[in-house]
Amino acid sequence: MKDFDIIIVGAGPAGSCLARLAAGLPGLRIALLDARALDSAYTGTGRIKSCGGLMAPAAQKALARMDMALPSRLLVTPQLFAVRTLDLPSGLERNYQRFYLNLDREAFDRWLFASVGDSVRKFSSVMVKKLHRERDGYGVLCEDGTHLCCRFIVGADGANSVVRRKLFPQLRPTCYISIQERFALESRKPHFAAFFDPEITDYYAWGLPKGQEYLLGAAIPATTGAGKTFLRFKEKIRPFGYDLRDPLSRESTLILRPDGPPASGVLPDGTACLLGEAGGYISPSSAEGFSYAFRTAMLLYRSLRLAGEGRSSDAYFKNVCRWQDHLLRPLRLELWGKCLKRQVLYRPFLRRLVMRSGLRHLRCLES
Ligand SMILES: Cc1cc2nc3c(=O)[nH]c(=O)nc-3n(C[C@H](O)[C@H](O)[C@H](O)COP(=O)(O)OP(=O)(O)OC[C@H]3O[C@@H](n4cnc5c(N)ncnc54)[C@H](O)[C@@H]3O)c2cc1C
Repeated sequence: MKDFDIIIVGAGPAGSCLARLAAGLPGLRIALLDARALDSAYTGTGRIKSCGGLMAPAAQKALARMDMALPSRLLVTPQLFAVRTLDLPSGLERNYQRFYLNLDREAFDRWLFASVGDSVRKFSSVMVKKLHRERDGYGVLCEDGTHLCCRFIVGADGANSVVRRKLFPQLRPTCYISIQERFALESRKPHFAAFFDPEITDYYAWGLPKGQEYLLGAAIPATTGAGKTFLRFKEKIRPFGYDLRDPLSRESTLILRPDGPPASGVLPDGTACLLGEAGGYISPSSAEGFSYAFRTAMLLYRSLRLAGEGRSSDAYFKNVCRWQDHLLRPLRLELWGKCLKRQVLYRPFLRRLVMRSGLRHLRCLES
């Protein structure tokens, strides 16, 4: 007898949402594991998830579909209405309206984790180190020596997923190194900024006020000297009014970028599945990941419901994987569309053409 029918590795937006939804399904013993201390308030030390914490309308819509509403304590000042878009080599600058919510990411993840019902066994501050195949499922070995086993494993463990690396070795998504520094917010205008410069990155770089801090980040190709490139980035934005020195802290982590529609991330033998960024579900144009984490989790919940009776049998989990593979198709198609959008946004000539056209530009009042 296995300890659990399902072990979910990672309690970020994808893992916690799946656990919260699946908690209501009778006949399934579920465990949710995370390396972060998500069972207590964040005190400024310990493992964190590096993130901008902006929740886009697609993610808000997904929360609404799960009948979830955010407590205001998760919001961080200021709430932003526009993105200042800067093409550094040409000096072109435009403002575009945006409808994001500015969130405290660590508080948000703790709130999601707390919302998971008691029928799910939650493990916090537990880092999964190894997985191994057992006769009818997997053994999961954690850094603190905890050993658990399950029939079905869900990898919701983000960009550097141990579940993906171990069980889906054929998936090798393109990785960028994301560096984000935090500065004391002095008198800077409360701009949310997006910076474009092929010398720095062919992906995304951003600036963002967050409470008493200003976050500056860039997703830099993993092949270049990311640290040096980030220094160069800070030099290049100085003439545009971002004189950012003496960071309070620095985070660096991996971020994925799909080159095409991601693989479905299910094992046909019905033993494992990937969710959210672990499966490569993230926008290749804006690096928006919340909505994909929520939606892949919602789809797996639907698959668990549609797969029929006999919830702890092998046939049941094979059905789950078949459904998930099928239900993910529209999302994969959507990401393929985003890959096309990426071709416009990140081609300097096309981007400048759009920016020069003034299309959708919000003209600010002169002071
Ligand atoms: C710097 C940066 C800024 C970003 N800004 C935004 C933004 O503003 N808006 C947006 O929508 N998206 C943003 N993203 C993308 C977004 O953060 C992710 O796509 C999203 O969080 C994915 O959710 P997830 O649940 O799939 O994975 P994650 O949020 O990465 O959660 C994975 C969880 O698994 C845990 N974990 C990992 N490995 C293990 C292990 N071995 N054992 C146990 N637990 C483990 C981690 O602690 C984490 O809690 C940003 C990403 C980065 C890197």
